[in-house]
Amino acid sequence: MPFPGVAPFPGNGDPRACGILRIMDLDAPDNPHSNPDAPVRPDTPVGAVTAWTAVVPGPFFGGFTYHFDLDAGPVPAPGVRVRVPFGQSERVALVIEPSPIDEQETRPILEVLDAAPLLDAETLACLRWAAAYYHHPLGDVVFAALPKILRGERRLEVEALASTPAGREALRDGAMRGERQREALETLAASREPLPAAKLGPAAVRRRLMEKGWAESTRITAPAEWPVPAEPGSEVAPALNRQQQDAVEAVVSGGDGFQAWLLHGVTGSGKTEVYLALIERELAAGRQVLVVVPEISLTPQLIDRFARRLAVRPAVLHSGLADGERLAAWRAVAAGTAGLVIGTRSAAFVPLARPGLIVVDEEHDAALKQQEGFLYHARDVLVWRARQLAIPILLGSATPSLESLRHAWAGHYRHLRLSERATGARMPAIHCLDVRGQTMEAGLSPALLRAIERHLLDGGQVMLYLNRRGYAPSLLCHACGYVAGCPHCDAFLTWHRQIGRLRCHHCGFEQGVPADCPSCQAPLSVRGLGTEQLEDVLAARFPGFGIVRLDRDATAGKGVMAESLARIARGEARLVVGTQMLVKGHDFPGVTLVGVVNADQALFASDFRGPERFAQSLLQVAGRAGRAERPGEVLVQTHDPDHPVLRRLLAEDYEAVMAAQLTEREQAELPPTRFAGLIRADAPQADTARAFLMKVAEELRAGFGEELSVWGPVPAPLARRAGRYRFQLLLLARVRSTLHRALWQVDDSVGSRRLGGRLRWSIDVDPIDLA
Ligand code: ADP
Ligand code: ZN
Repeated sequence: MPFPGVAPFPGNGDPRACGILRIMDLDAPDNPHSNPDAPVRPDTPVGAVTAWTAVVPGPFFGGFTYHFDLDAGPVPAPGVRVRVPFGQSERVALVIEPSPIDEQETRPILEVLDAAPLLDAETLACLRWAAAYYHHPLGDVVFAALPKILRGERRLEVEALASTPAGREALRDGAMRGERQREALETLAASREPLPAAKLGPAAVRRRLMEKGWAESTRITAPAEWPVPAEPGSEVAPALNRQQQDAVEAVVSGGDGFQAWLLHGVTGSGKTEVYLALIERELAAGRQVLVVVPEISLTPQLIDRFARRLAVRPAVLHSGLADGERLAAWRAVAAGTAGLVIGTRSAAFVPLARPGLIVVDEEHDAALKQQEGFLYHARDVLVWRARQLAIPILLGSATPSLESLRHAWAGHYRHLRLSERATGARMPAIHCLDVRGQTMEAGLSPALLRAIERHLLDGGQVMLYLNRRGYAPSLLCHACGYVAGCPHCDAFLTWHRQIGRLRCHHCGFEQGVPADCPSCQAPLSVRGLGTEQLEDVLAARFPGFGIVRLDRDATAGKGVMAESLARIARGEARLVVGTQMLVKGHDFPGVTLVGVVNADQALFASDFRGPERFAQSLLQVAGRAGRAERPGEVLVQTHDPDHPVLRRLLAEDYEAVMAAQLTEREQAELPPTRFAGLIRADAPQADTARAFLMKVAEELRAGFGEELSVWGPVPAPLARRAGRYRFQLLLLARVRSTLHRALWQVDDSVGSRRLGGRLRWSIDVDPIDLA
């Protein structure tokens, strides 16, 4: 799709013919993370380059070529921004590499915006690999990796001063009169580099220095400063136990080069202490550490803990920052002035000036995969990057993903296990509550209610996990069968009683609550149970114990989450009700009972990852119990106590469950034993989306035969969302390169076709969610 007015790509006008996309040798062995044929680092050529390939944000797989012939100002290099003509207007583009194209054919670079590259060769190579691997337009990938402020024309250069020979002579002669002039000149003379003018005293002083010829003005890139705390870390590390020590020693003796480590440690086993010990070593050796966590809400606790322990101020990168803060942190990491960086998934692409170690915490967490736009998985990108950087990477979890466990079992990753809690606390006992035939009160069986009461009276805290927010997942009419549904989605509306609205959790549609059935005027009744209802019922049943609800609705306001967590920590709330949010790494020592209100919801999920997710959530939420002296108890309500996953989880351990899962996936020919790509399409008319995918499927079957399994098209699990019909096509291959060849064929064939009917489509490589 050459853009009008821009020189076409060499060859045939295929936007990828310039080689941007096909840089990776995808025929490497099937292990995704053991590809020894890493793409070459693009060398910056010297001398006679006159044309450059640059990318702009937008749906372009490749770059565009421009020639450079400006006399003044900085010159282009890979990683710098340039202003270029684009169609009828101008754009900011980022230079990727020199171009072999004859300059005559191209339009000119209008201005070079950076004196030094914003992205180094390694980061650029990583972005190019990620764009290719995830089949996403490179310009979008590159610009998304820049802090927002740098996506436009904002310069990083500031006015600077340097001392002149005359100035240094004047200093030696002592011929200076003004005290302030001498101070400024001494500072300048002591520095090899020009210094930012703003730091050298009042403007009048600087002007005098220049008038006398003692200093000259120039422009430099604003320094990326990062504060070093005056105080060393205030908290002393606990002495590591045997297993922790073994883990640390293993990683240390593994050396500085690439190695992926899977740190599989039960909840509360002290994984974070292992990270801290390794981080401390790296920082002491002058190397940087990148720590990536799935959730922004987990970063404050982690940052506090790291800052208390280590004598550094961590640079933080997540979406909740103000643009200026993010720019400062990002630049400090890229420049190497910040030693430790903690961030959420987008931090996977931050340039590292002196990298030593990468840590991915909660590596199994689905939040590490971006679910919109550029569908990358931060963990997988980082494993690739660690290899490229030739540094170790540590993946930590109490419940590792099947993908990572498989690599560990196969010896691609090295497996470290922490099987006991670091504080000496025992792991909680998990029991099933068979709720068949029981009289339930708001989803709670008599046995669970008794247990709650017992733990509360014993002074414990109780956590109830229910992965459904709102008061009730649907409202229905008992007389005629009417159910309040979303007009735009194939989904029911959830009743949110506190705000008195019915809401669609898929498209955001909301409406008031009808007084009675719109079709037969009979009274409406509620069906199902949400966290709001559970909170109401428990508050009424156990008054005086204090209750907190943790879900997206209850924690939406600024600071509410922190306040709720503090109320739990202080013991003011003895009852906690929550969704998936409970599962995430919180450490509440007072919790002695965890109740899983509805295990069946996850056990019978339609996704093939359902059992894996269930095992992870169950063990994670169970891990909140009994972290201190009092032993913990976990009660799981189910209608199917004989479910094999549940049985194995209670009888054996997590690895046994996952080993059985792997066998099942192998038999069903599903990931991770196959390489998967999901092609999604949606349109206002069902036929448009289905017909599009049928054609894609036909072409793929014709082109690939047995090599590739093509499943579908089938309606997506949520078949209509926000008024659009959604279909999907699942591709599975034994060999990674087959999958990518197939996806390129789709890019090529669809990219050159005119699509009607307001069709949208996308490619998801290694999909983790088939919804
Ligand atoms: P994880 O990250 O595996 O959940 P943490 O590192 O947060 O575990 O440790 C859990 C608890 O155990 C924390 O309160 C921590 O301070 C404590 N802890 C960790 N290692 C030790 C140790 N070697 N000795 C005593 N307490 C420890
Ligand atoms: Zn909806």
